[in-house]
Amino acid sequence: MVRSSSLGYPRIGADREWKKALETFWSGKLEEAEFTARLQEIRLSHLKKQQLKGIDWIPVNDFSFYDHMLDTAAMFGIVPKRFAYEGGRVPLSVYYAMARGTQGAAACEMTKWFNTNYHYIVPELSDAAPALTENRPLAAYKEAKEALGIEGKPVLVGLLTFLKLSKGYDAAGIDAWIERLLPLYVQVVQELEREGVQWVQIDEPILVTSVSDQDIIRLKTIYEKLAEGAPKLKIMLQTYFEAVDSYEEIVKLPVDGIGLDFVHGGNGNLAALTKHGFPAGKLLGAGVIDGRGIWRADLEQKLDLMGQLADKVGYDRIIVQSSCSLLHVPVTAERETQLAPELRNALAFADEKLDEIVLLAGAAASGASAAAAFAGQKEALRKLQQSPARSREDVQQAVSLMAAQSAARASSFKERHSIQLQKWQLPLLPTTTIGSFPQSAEVRQARQNWRKGDWSAERYSDYIKEQIGIWIELQAEIGLDVLVHGEFERTDMVEYFGEKLAGFAFTRNGWVQSYGSRCVKPPIIYGDVAFTSPMTVEETVYAQSLTDKPVKGMLTGPITILNWSFVREDITREQVAYQIAYALRLEVEALEKAGIGMIQVDEPALREGLPLKEEEHESYLDWAVKAFKLATCTVADSTQIHTHMCYCEFHDMIDAIKELDADVISIETSRSHGEMIHSFEENTYDLGIGLGVYDIHSPRVPPVEEMSDMIDRALQVLNPALFWINPDCGLKTRGREETETSLRHMVEATRLARAKY
Ligand code: GLN
Ligand code: ZN
Repeated sequence: MVRSSSLGYPRIGADREWKKALETFWSGKLEEAEFTARLQEIRLSHLKKQQLKGIDWIPVNDFSFYDHMLDTAAMFGIVPKRFAYEGGRVPLSVYYAMARGTQGAAACEMTKWFNTNYHYIVPELSDAAPALTENRPLAAYKEAKEALGIEGKPVLVGLLTFLKLSKGYDAAGIDAWIERLLPLYVQVVQELEREGVQWVQIDEPILVTSVSDQDIIRLKTIYEKLAEGAPKLKIMLQTYFEAVDSYEEIVKLPVDGIGLDFVHGGNGNLAALTKHGFPAGKLLGAGVIDGRGIWRADLEQKLDLMGQLADKVGYDRIIVQSSCSLLHVPVTAERETQLAPELRNALAFADEKLDEIVLLAGAAASGASAAAAFAGQKEALRKLQQSPARSREDVQQAVSLMAAQSAARASSFKERHSIQLQKWQLPLLPTTTIGSFPQSAEVRQARQNWRKGDWSAERYSDYIKEQIGIWIELQAEIGLDVLVHGEFERTDMVEYFGEKLAGFAFTRNGWVQSYGSRCVKPPIIYGDVAFTSPMTVEETVYAQSLTDKPVKGMLTGPITILNWSFVREDITREQVAYQIAYALRLEVEALEKAGIGMIQVDEPALREGLPLKEEEHESYLDWAVKAFKLATCTVADSTQIHTHMCYCEFHDMIDAIKELDADVISIETSRSHGEMIHSFEENTYDLGIGLGVYDIHSPRVPPVEEMSDMIDRALQVLNPALFWINPDCGLKTRGREETETSLRHMVEATRLARAKY
């Protein structure tokens, strides 16, 4: 018998019913009792599905009302004072206030979950008085047992991971926090043991990052105490996303099973296991099916990998599982019938991955009996591999030629800068925006009308032009110096380009949770990426025809397109990035030829591809920066290349940002309370730069003085001759009036600054 396990199932539902329930509840149209009943229904249906598929170890408590880190904080009563929480079980109102903020209390911060596009709520420890407010894993276990007779495996975020991902432990120190929380964790596992739970899965993904000797000591303390507290309960210590950092120490921890990722992290875990062996008496959670990618597995190869593991561990001690929770992939590929069969048959989303796990467990147990299923799988992969979309020789040749040549602009920034000053004759501290203007309900409706066929392409295009006209006029009247067309024709900054490039496919229902109820539907890059026809020239040229001021062209950069898509795995990410760069280069050149002399290439997701292991940062940044430069380097000296970044802290990436050699960068600043500005104190940045002078994430209109303040602070560190004035990010989600007033304030603050500098 080889057992199968699931580490976590997507919460959102095949029709995003989870998202819809949350949003209806937030809008006040669903009573709390109805809402929780609805979520229970969804939760149980997910368990039932896994049960029907024949998964042996079904996870419980992986489900959430928002996010699992927030759940853990709430379970331990870790609620910041500003939410007026009075102890006891955290009410839903407080729970959602922490996630989303209220009138009087800012939401908790949200940040990326390791190297995924999932974002968790960052627990704030500083003013918390922890107590066990409810045993969530226990409740989930009981529910599954009572409703479906499932002997669930409760999932819990491990203490070390929980603390390291929280903020505010510095005051007391992490060890003091371990002392505070460990007894509560012990209480949780004791209650599980008392209920008769057999296995609990404790997630410690932090173990794939750098683990210090001190951390190892902490882990020993934590897991010894848990084992002592609940000696009959078995613990599967689960890691994922990479190879573990200190294999030998980690496998020795006093737990009953160790879950390792055998898909990511190169050969790290397999090599360590082969070299050091695996402790007798422990189970190995073998993460052999990719929990994050969307492609079917070559099961023959996976069975071979299992064989290698079994040589060391024995099949009776192996659990077949995905490399991580299936939270990061869409629910099912079954309904994607509109896709070309060669593509659809090669896809495996969560449900298909569960099937693969069960198949693999069965095959490992019984030898060759699954040969037919394996052959089908292999044939599907072969068909995709042989697809003409993957062998565009024209593209491959052009891209390798390009990549072998220099990615540098013809002249240095200094030379370009003086040429551009001459050409553009902009005032000191030029003002601009990041690209998009409000996408009103009317704009979205117009797009719907066109997509449904109610409007002709011509009518839709006329409508877009009308919007461009309105906003060009408004920008000029407000007094902005560099204008944009407003991006009214775009739903999403990646999808828009993906739909126009070859090599991309779009699913109907391939949604994954990004944060809270927010889901994204990443495009699939399955073939060679190629430019087919100009993507942005018509709108940009039209906008330029309406004004004497420069209009900035607006593109999404190669790394952002790459990092926000599901990507083929038969060639390297670097190769795919260069293909996208080549396609974008053709667009940049088309814009330039059409008379557009300023072109912005956005890279908000540059940081998202950063590997978890620090020693791999450099090589990623090398090719990522190169891809950006390849896309932008062929233009004339007088053509001004802009870029834009947001969402993250970029302070440790300033060198890479400089290397992009963009003539102007605009960076989000105000949400980090101006912390960005400090980063530039040590790092003299000597290219054009605009640090966002106001937060665009809230409808609030900032007063002139506030922006003046931001400008003054920035100009204490940065050279006024290179400084630009702009908001933090695009204005797509804002209303028209607040946008207009904010921009007027921004122009006024600039006028005041110009008088001073
Ligand atoms: N140009 C895009 C916009 O203004 C940039 C969006 C982003 O950075 N996320 O919407
Ligand atoms: Zn942005």
